[in-house]
Amino acid sequence: MDLSGGSALGLFTCELCEMSSPYSFYGQKPPNTRAIVLLEECYGMKDPFSPEREKFLVLGSKCCLCSKTVCVGMDCSLFYTKRFCLPCVRAHLHQFPEQVQNEVLRKKSVQKMSSS
Ligand SMILES: [Zn+2]
Ligand SMILES: [Zn+2]
Repeated sequence: MDLSGGSALGLFTCELCEMSSPYSFYGQKPPNTRAIVLLEECYGMKDPFSPEREKFLVLGSKCCLCSKTVCVGMDCSLFYTKRFCLPCVRAHLHQFPEQVQNEVLRKKSVQKMSSS
């Protein structure tokens, strides 16, 4: 079964940063891969910069709490056993382990230090 063959199923749009990109699969198993099963249902596409058939990019996923579609960017979501959008992480911060809390707090203080 190779119905997707690199053609886009639709457009993935992050609800937080509005990054958008066409995606070619949604689920835990990217097409044309043998042994890859992802930890979460996610939107992804074949890596356009790689000639290898099994290379793919994960674009984003749905927050397990609010079901917002968010990209995997560090400013938008975090994966801790499941995918959480950052607003939900912040809202439930005390329920996450210290390591995650520190990571999120660090993000807050180092916002948009774009070094070009
Ligand atoms: Zn985003
Ligand atoms: Zn959320």
